[in-house]
Amino acid sequence: MRLSRYFLPILKENPKEAEIVSHRLMLRAGMIRQQSSGIYSWLPLGKRVLDKVNTIIREEQNRAGAEEILMPTVQSADLWMESGRYDAYGKEMLRITDRQDRAMLYGPTNEEMVTDIFRTYVRSYKDLPLNLYHIQTKFRDEIRPRFGTMRSREFMMKDAYSFDLDLDRARESYHRMFVAYLRTFARMGLKSIPMRAETGPIGGDLSHEFIILAETGESEVFCHRDILDFDVPGSDTDFRDAGGLASIVDKWTTLYAATEDMHEVERYENEVPQDARVSARGIEVGHIFYFGTKYSEPLNAKVTGPDGQEHAVHMGSYGIGPTRLVAAIIEASHDDGGIVWPDAVAPFDLMLISMKAGDEACDAACERIYEAAANAGLDVLYDDTDERAGSKFATADLVGVPTQVVVGPRSIASSEVEVKNRRTGERETLSVEAAINRLT
Ligand code: ATP
Ligand code: MG
Ligand code: MG
Ligand code: MG
Repeated sequence: MRLSRYFLPILKENPKEAEIVSHRLMLRAGMIRQQSSGIYSWLPLGKRVLDKVNTIIREEQNRAGAEEILMPTVQSADLWMESGRYDAYGKEMLRITDRQDRAMLYGPTNEEMVTDIFRTYVRSYKDLPLNLYHIQTKFRDEIRPRFGTMRSREFMMKDAYSFDLDLDRARESYHRMFVAYLRTFARMGLKSIPMRAETGPIGGDLSHEFIILAETGESEVFCHRDILDFDVPGSDTDFRDAGGLASIVDKWTTLYAATEDMHEVERYENEVPQDARVSARGIEVGHIFYFGTKYSEPLNAKVTGPDGQEHAVHMGSYGIGPTRLVAAIIEASHDDGGIVWPDAVAPFDLMLISMKAGDEACDAACERIYEAAANAGLDVLYDDTDERAGSKFATADLVGVPTQVVVGPRSIASSEVEVKNRRTGERETLSVEAAINRLT
């Protein structure tokens, strides 16, 4: 991609409305544009990152046995009246009336709808377990939308829903999602901590929020320091091995970790030695939740069990906020110069900077590197503009592509280029040949 033709509306000034660094950098790097309060467009650079985030989410959901569907954003109020949530949901729900005067709504979540799909088709325990997910836009009329896409009104959610015959099997489904979440966030370069979270009237221990520690986080959280050093399960994890998954979950839930809603001061002080106590702020990037027959009972989603009897299915729901995640990744990974993307979610792999576009030697070297990198499957953003050097470097640092290659007229005369690591700031002068070998 040539920068001269790429739609990258960089802002030189700090936007006044942005209170936290991720919001500021997303606006400055031309990733998003606010359309109205809490409602954003994703511009090309932002869209690339969002797509990478969604790809990782999808791969890990699929690996754990969930199946992707796509449910609509606009829902009929009828289902929500059946479940009893239409009135209970309150002002966060955007309610719409269509031209036939039917009550509709813009979905804030999809428990009712997915339960309706389930009850239409599934009759027997033999078709279980089942886990259906989608990645779809949600709307919640948040009382205080703020921090850009961190807390917006329109946002994206990956929501998965599991269906099982009983609690024991629902627990296995829960464990699969638990482990999938650990892997998902780790692949994005994030350290996520599963923390005990509110279960509501269901009770039990099957509700965890996945929290990223950050000063700007909206939740107050408490945990044992050692959890921060746990190794995340690898890609060879066997999602059919219920015992293996249970022991992973066990390991990750034994040490104290709770959000403010579930915090028990006395337990915390008894269980966690003073020097291991982490009390911090955190961002909720995911939430998994077992809620039993809360929706299957009122919506009559039942299967025949091996005993020949009808059983309301036991369900869980599993949410991740991709649009919030993009902001959370930036909160966790930036410096004074701008964003520092973890490789797996970077919008481009390589930023190629020509210091003198139009100079024959510079152009030729850039073309060569561009082509070699593209052939090796790398995404390259090629700054072929005639901006000043200082402005080019500032843009490259701001958009945070992991590797920068600088091609200048003086060094190219001796066939050399500079390779800079965005994260460490380390620079190395290499021959064009050596640079290509290094990068590809
Ligand atoms: P919060 O406590 O931040 O309001 P929530 O508990 O209401 O979030 P859930 O219903 O658990 O959210 O939804 C699952 C995920 O969707 C959250 O963990 C978060 O990542 C994302 N999410 C929820 N609300 C928003 C929002 N307003 N903007 C962006 N992402 C959101
Ligand atoms: Mg909320
Ligand atoms: Mg919450
Ligand atoms: Mg939640």
